[in-house]
Amino acid sequence: MAWALDPSSRELPPVESVLVVCAHPDDESFGLGALLDRFVEAGAAVSVLCFTRGEASTLGVSDAALGDVRRVELTDAAVTLGVGRVELLEHPDGSLAGEPLDMLAGAVARVAEEVRADLLVVFDEGGVTGHPDHCRATEAALAGAPALPALAWALPQHVAEALNAEFGTTFVGRPEAEVDLVLRVDRVRQQRAIACHTSQSGDNPVLERRLSLLGETESLRWLRPPPSLAG
Ligand SMILES: [Zn+2]
Repeated sequence: MAWALDPSSRELPPVESVLVVCAHPDDESFGLGALLDRFVEAGAAVSVLCFTRGEASTLGVSDAALGDVRRVELTDAAVTLGVGRVELLEHPDGSLAGEPLDMLAGAVARVAEEVRADLLVVFDEGGVTGHPDHCRATEAALAGAPALPALAWALPQHVAEALNAEFGTTFVGRPEAEVDLVLRVDRVRQQRAIACHTSQSGDNPVLERRLSLLGETESLRWLRPPPSLAG
């Protein structure tokens, strides 16, 4: 496809089919919700490949079968966001880095082919929250669809630093010079999708604070730029 994208543009690339690759149910909403809303609004088909059922979360542990609960939450959130397809795999939550890369990449290749993806959307290298599962999901996406451009959701450095100072978290941010796109977003649909993840969103002050610090923008980086921007 033709990528007529001005490098200084603050707009999304013109794509038809976006494949989101993430580690946990809620990553698509808590992290990427506002961005995915923009793609859906722009008319792109959005599909989500999620590697784990999120069964190792320390939130919602009173639920007997957290993985099953989170599967349903993901389905509801996807409908809310306008995501057309969800592929939820059952790799072990918390130890995705121990899963063979070729196995994970193979799943990415298969789904990318099935949905005729023309763009990968992933978490930034470093995993944004610092979670090793997030890093592995991004690594698998890049390895599984080597011909596709890859756009990463990133946190501004100052937001990561504020969160880490206030909560003792391990967010990995990016200085302005490493951010390629700053996108204006509307968080209404993201907030509705977050609410679908009942087991995770009930008491989540870090999430609330992050969204408040980010305000109406999201920062993005090209991990693999489209041909019109490369070189
Ligand atoms: Zn996650």
